Amino acid sequence: MFATLSDRLTSTFRNLRSKGRLSEADIDATVREIRRALLDADVAVPVVRAFTGAVRERALSAEVSGALNPAQQVVKIVNDELVGVLGRETRTLRFAKTGPTVILLAGLQGAGKTTLAGKLALHLKGQGHTPLLVAADLQRPNAVTQLQVVGERAGVPVFAPHPGNQGLDDVLPAGADPVAVARAGLEAARQRHHDVLVVDTAGRLGVDGGLMQQAADIRDAVDPDEILFVIDAMIGQDAVTTAQAFADGVGFTGVVLSKLDGDARGGAALSVASVTGRPILFASTGEKLTDFEVFHPDRMASRILDMGDVLTLIEQAEKAFDAEQAERMAGKLASGQDFTLGDFLVQMQQLRNMGSIKKMFGMLPGMGQMREALDNFDEREVDRIEAIIRSMTPAERETPKIINGSRRARIAKGSGTTPAEINQLLERFDAAQKMMRTMARGGGMPAMGGMGS
Ligand code: GDP
Repeated sequence: MFATLSDRLTSTFRNLRSKGRLSEADIDATVREIRRALLDADVAVPVVRAFTGAVRERALSAEVSGALNPAQQVVKIVNDELVGVLGRETRTLRFAKTGPTVILLAGLQGAGKTTLAGKLALHLKGQGHTPLLVAADLQRPNAVTQLQVVGERAGVPVFAPHPGNQGLDDVLPAGADPVAVARAGLEAARQRHHDVLVVDTAGRLGVDGGLMQQAADIRDAVDPDEILFVIDAMIGQDAVTTAQAFADGVGFTGVVLSKLDGDARGGAALSVASVTGRPILFASTGEKLTDFEVFHPDRMASRILDMGDVLTLIEQAEKAFDAEQAERMAGKLASGQDFTLGDFLVQMQQLRNMGSIKKMFGMLPGMGQMREALDNFDEREVDRIEAIIRSMTPAERETPKIINGSRRARIAKGSGTTPAEINQLLERFDAAQKMMRTMARGGGMPAMGGMGS
């Protein structure tokens, strides 16, 4: 996520570290580097101009703070301006006071709207809402099916015209027009007591009048509380013109940045909030439904400046974390029982629920400098370990000592690994277990998930 921009900015700051005092020439040189980094990352020119102008002015007027050295002061100013460009305050979804809240998704084809519909549904469900998805994208042949797939994955119903329209064939024959589908979807949400309606609309490859008109007609038919404009962070400079076209053609209340996991320059997406004056509500960071975050301008700035985003990390841990399970585990260890391979498997799954291990590391401060090591981290290693433990019987997980030659061969076959890999895992686990025993004797063990309790 914004890796190149992040690297460039942090290396600019590193060069400042050795300076005791910043001269005007130092500040100008720094501002020039920042400007180049932003332009290279595809941040829109007017945004770059305003940004660097503000940084220069504030650095020159040196909002001197005794607590910070000159380099830190510049970082603070850049951070502050970056938070501003990204929208400053976190803006959450606005819900209707009465009746279902209607969220309309708009954007180009391939922007990630349908995927987002599933992500939003899962997110809303997690907050106790009862969303209904509406397939008003009748342009793309398989868009309806695709929405049904994500709906199923999120465990949320989908309202769609035939086929698969949940008993409404008679009302909406195949080929129904999207405005009618959206309207009927709203009616269905009312009748079935769904408190949120997410309407997926059709996109086209480029901005065109017909597409805008259709989105505007759907908007008029369902009177949305939120219109979210979904923009692919990888499309570069076109992001700003596309956003402007949608702002003029349909209007939107908020932005969703998608595909932030890509290593694209992504800066254009950063300009969208600033250029359109609309806040970014969410970020999409992968193809899985859980690759989704509420967008916090301050945390994102912090991530870009490689100061880490520990808050998001903790939130994801809390979401993935099963308190009951942890309590059972803590009780078990406190009573002197061993941590077994079976326990290990459970812990590993909890960690997995948080998402990719690589992504988690990426949220720690200072990780920019370790990017290479991180890039080389092989998630498949974790898959291998999991496969090995899964191929063991409960007795083997409890007492690995019973694993003899023939058992080892069976486990290797079952997990698609080699006996040597199994030995390696068992040796490492044995060492870890010994360490745990020592810790347990030393008075309690560092609970894996005492977070917040
Ligand atoms: P739509 O045409 O706007 O509905 O876009 P889709 O939801 O069909 O997404 C287009 C493609 O982008 C699909 O292959 C998705 O799996 C993929 N996609 C969507 N969101 C993300 C994301 O955040 N990261 C990545 N890497 N891929 C995404």
